[in-house]
Amino acid sequence: MAISNNLQEVRALIDRAAREAGREPASVSLLAVSKTFGPEAVVEAAEAGQRAFGENYLQEALEKQQAVQALRPDLALDWHFIGPIQSNKTRPVAEHFAWAHAVDREKIARRLSEQRPADLPPLNICLQVNVSGEASKSGVAPGELPVLAQAVAGLPKLRLRGLMAIPEPADDPEAQRKPFVLLRELQQQLAAIGIATDTLSMGMSSDMQAAIAEGATIVRIGTAIFGKRDYSR
Ligand SMILES: *Cc1c(COP(=O)(O)O)cnc(C)c1O
Repeated sequence: MAISNNLQEVRALIDRAAREAGREPASVSLLAVSKTFGPEAVVEAAEAGQRAFGENYLQEALEKQQAVQALRPDLALDWHFIGPIQSNKTRPVAEHFAWAHAVDREKIARRLSEQRPADLPPLNICLQVNVSGEASKSGVAPGELPVLAQAVAGLPKLRLRGLMAIPEPADDPEAQRKPFVLLRELQQQLAAIGIATDTLSMGMSSDMQAAIAEGATIVRIGTAIFGKRDYSR
């Protein structure tokens, strides 16, 4: 019950933020981030109409996918891997997900393309950009993005969809918008050199309105749907 109510509230928030920004609510899709929550929570969200789920931890995600499949073989869900990918863990990501959001190295992208099974459509890719400078280690530096994007766009079993960022947390809406503006501008710069993409994966529970105002097409929402995470379990 709680999850279904939360989903409704989040969808209402997204719709309102989109309208306020003069955008179609349908242009923003909701990725439900289910990390640390069990398969029952995923099934509950799926029964309330949610189809796309995001996971950060590979082992947890693979076990959850199997458990969900066993509980409800009829559900066709889209799984997005949103965590960092180590180079020795690319194969399960290539085999068991529809999207990877945090690709920031060519080596990882090459392996994902080589390991993507022939019978699956190309793996959708977002390049994670480091929009917070020194404060963060993950993500490609903005200046190195064009070279990486060019390389990834040329890989046969990947489809470069766009950019993803996890900015440093900020409380006030103006500060929240800055890194999202940067990500949108970087997407435009790629388009200007012939690399067209359709996705900005940005915005989490605490900053989704700011992200939508700046053009997010996928918001990744965990806490506002499933509640607070307990990492001790
Ligand atoms: C955990 C996580 C989220 C969801 O964060 P909430 O604040 O719970 O909405 C989104 N994106 C990434 C990459 C995450 O790791």
